[in-house]
Amino acid sequence: MVSEAGTEREAMMAGDFIVEQIRTPVRYTCDTVVCGGGTAGFVAALAAARNGAKTVMVERLGYVGGTLVNGAGPLHSFYNLYKAFPDAKKQQVVQGIPQEMIERMMAAGGSPGHLEQEKGGSYDSVITIVDWELFKDVAFTMLEEAGVTVLLHTMIVGVLKDGDQLTGIVTEGKSGREAIRAGVVIDATGDADVAAFAGADYEKRQDTTSVGMPFGMNDVDMTRLVEYLKKNNLITQLIEGDKGSETDHVIRLGFQLNQVPEFTEFMNKEGMWGPLGFSLHENSFTYINSANLINVDTTNSEEYSAAEITLRHQIMQLAAMLKKYIPGFEKSYVSWTPASIGIRLTRIITCEHDMSLEEIVNGRRFKDEVYLYGFHDCAPRITIKEGGCYGVPYRALLPVKLQGLLLAGRCITSTWEAHMSTRNTVSCMAQGQAAGTAAALCIREGCLPKALDVMKLRTTLISQGVYLGQEDK
Ligand SMILES: Cc1cc2nc3c(=O)[nH]c(=O)nc-3n(C[C@H](O)[C@H](O)[C@H](O)COP(=O)(O)OP(=O)(O)OC[C@H]3O[C@@H](n4cnc5c(N)ncnc54)[C@H](O)[C@@H]3O)c2cc1C
Repeated sequence: MVSEAGTEREAMMAGDFIVEQIRTPVRYTCDTVVCGGGTAGFVAALAAARNGAKTVMVERLGYVGGTLVNGAGPLHSFYNLYKAFPDAKKQQVVQGIPQEMIERMMAAGGSPGHLEQEKGGSYDSVITIVDWELFKDVAFTMLEEAGVTVLLHTMIVGVLKDGDQLTGIVTEGKSGREAIRAGVVIDATGDADVAAFAGADYEKRQDTTSVGMPFGMNDVDMTRLVEYLKKNNLITQLIEGDKGSETDHVIRLGFQLNQVPEFTEFMNKEGMWGPLGFSLHENSFTYINSANLINVDTTNSEEYSAAEITLRHQIMQLAAMLKKYIPGFEKSYVSWTPASIGIRLTRIITCEHDMSLEEIVNGRRFKDEVYLYGFHDCAPRITIKEGGCYGVPYRALLPVKLQGLLLAGRCITSTWEAHMSTRNTVSCMAQGQAAGTAAALCIREGCLPKALDVMKLRTTLISQGVYLGQEDK
């Protein structure tokens, strides 16, 4: 049975539709197909392949990394919030493949590693920055080494099902419409396209979370900019350090631009914040996150398109105003915009366990937890008890009703306050490692994800560098 959602369904709803009769060739038969090569997906593919699964990863763009290289800024967070709690011990909570990725990036000269925040440490005590262009290359190398088949420029448009069990996906790309059969399917599309095509229960909560469009500017005199901001007491977050320049030492920078009179009305009207940003290279304000739009459903093509256009206008206006009014920006120009607006929240799939805010802030631990996490994006207003961490159970990656499917990424956790923690990049990468490893073990054991022995999964994860609180016991 082939199931499909999207344009055909909408046309049928409008009373106008065509019936297509097509034979779709099967391009691959594999153990695991990872749908989406983004933040969670590329880690899931690495974990599955390294654990022996014949793995195909399908991605609609021409590179991997997803929102991590297209709108997310500093990676939040490998560490706990120890700077906000005097008695808390500094702990690297997320390790495993995400940590290995940072080490590979550092070796390639594409990351200064984990940096302690001088100012803003009670929001995130340690942030991690990577150069996105190098990231794409390093990630491809790691996927090649692991033997993952990477299919780029390919959209997933449907699923193969046998009863309530997913048995593969349908794709469309330059080679036309094709199918991939797989023992286990991992949905890491962010929007949970695959789970939705398969008929999973889900809710959409775009009213509570905005879409945004970070961008970068070059030829910014970062030193003069920081002098001006310090003089006017506008800085909220700052890391200064060595980035290979004799004069420019600004790495992390957040400031309250809306307090500058020329910006107040414009920013408040548009609902813009910050900006929060970082600089990786001399005179480059690599990442400026300020543009913002609420109540956009990006699973609707028309709303997605309209938001894309509005935010592109918004950032060009902001860049022109920075150049005109703020010292340091006089000679600057926009050097980078993402492939798409950044999307924080669309479909949330109903899973066997739904992480609640209460569990997160109380640092709840689970017998079947497959990763730990210690960051909340609303800190210091919302923090995890005593600057500790919480566990995420395997069940949180398993959709109710459906078989043969694992989820990883921002498509889990239904309440906005809890999602503000689990959706962050480092959490999504950790989910990817858990889901990819689980998929490979299912193939080895000849079982479906819901029947997997979680203790075997945990033992494998620990043996592969994942921190599950081993030293705490
Ligand atoms: C503006 C913005 C700023 C943020 N800032 C931060 C930050 O500073 N720090 C932080 O830690 N987090 C930040 N986040 C959150 C974080 O970046 C995301 O929640 C996280 O990256 C999502 O990971 P994911 O794997 O679920 O999705 P993604 O990384 O978006 O990956 C999904 C992948 O699937 C692909 N895909 C989607 N649909 C299909 C399809 N049908 N067929 C084929 N491929 C498909 C996409 O192209 C993409 O590559 C930010 C998010 C936004 C939007």
